[in-house]
Amino acid sequence: MTGFPIPAREARLRVRPGPAGMAAGAFDIVDTVVPEPREGEVLVRNVAMSVEPYMRLCLDDTYGPAMASPLGEPPSGSAVGRVVLSRAPSLHPGDIVRSNFGWRECFVASAGAVEKLPVIADIPAEAFLSVLGTTGFTAYVGMIDIGRPSPGETILVSGAAGAVGSVACQLAKARRGIVIGIAGSEDKCRWLKGLGIDHVINYRQSSDLVRSIGLCAPDGIDLYFDNVGGIQLEAAITVARPRARFVECGMISTYQASEAPKAPHNLIQIIAKGITLYGYTAADFGHLQPAFRAAMLNWLATGEVQWRHTVYDNLAHAPQALDDLFAGIGIGKSVVRLVDE
Ligand code: NAP
Repeated sequence: MTGFPIPAREARLRVRPGPAGMAAGAFDIVDTVVPEPREGEVLVRNVAMSVEPYMRLCLDDTYGPAMASPLGEPPSGSAVGRVVLSRAPSLHPGDIVRSNFGWRECFVASAGAVEKLPVIADIPAEAFLSVLGTTGFTAYVGMIDIGRPSPGETILVSGAAGAVGSVACQLAKARRGIVIGIAGSEDKCRWLKGLGIDHVINYRQSSDLVRSIGLCAPDGIDLYFDNVGGIQLEAAITVARPRARFVECGMISTYQASEAPKAPHNLIQIIAKGITLYGYTAADFGHLQPAFRAAMLNWLATGEVQWRHTVYDNLAHAPQALDDLFAGIGIGKSVVRLVDE
């Protein structure tokens, strides 16, 4: 790399799309430059960035200014990238790092603001955005630390073919549970079956979700891992056994709603059934990161956990990739590749 400043692009939020609007069309892809790093700083070229459901919430200011992405700036979000130039002793050119500087191709930051990632044979850096990253960690916290499935228990997972859900399903299998995955297409259901998930339900093909779950679990469910909320949560409450545990990871069906969710109508049943609802934010469980990393590497090595990415090329396609999460287009983790490595 020669001559500063270096040209690079970033995706800046131009308008708030509104709850039912699309992210595509709400951004400008802007040519910009990054300066030469100073003492203690690094210059990083991002290889791939993550798109995640929470980002859609941040494009609007529905949840107040603290969560809203500022207009005229790239939204925040995690990325993996390669150090191009380092003025810090802890990092060297070629090192792979994870960062949280948002939707941009290149950045300069303090070396302490990025995390150096290990190089692991046969595992690309992108996996640190998924199975070894936030979504894998979220599944680990929710299923292993909170849900704690026992062998033989019946576990229902919604959003089962997504980034978090697909790992959650496989972790429940690793704990020898009987797993029912709910997903939105035949392709997704086929993939889940191939991963060894016991039962799969395509909710778009089911006119009666309670009945569909009941056919897979005549005695009800012991544990529900919820990524979706709404009518899937309502169905899970109906089929829950007494003292079932509900891990509330996400409620994506409500994120683009312009009015209050209509379901669940049957929340009152949690009293008589003694259901425990446990909501959590994975970021609050940072102390589990070392155990997660070790356990996940082991599951990957044994093949008990497999992963899949839906890849978009080019920063300009990041807004579309975000919209596609809500159209159910991707399988596994959606990532935007910024550089072909
Ligand atoms: P993802 O599941 O990979 O992608 C979104 C998927 O959600 C879509 O492919 C689609 O799959 C499904 N979906 C979208 N709109 C839906 C709707 N209206 N009704 C039903 N399903 C819908 O995303 P992810 O990153 O793994 O996130 C999954 C959930 O975990 C989200 O709710 C997210 O907010 C949450 N999360 C929570 C934490 C935490 O700390 N608690 C951290 C990360 C993520 P189908 O085709 O199957 O519908």
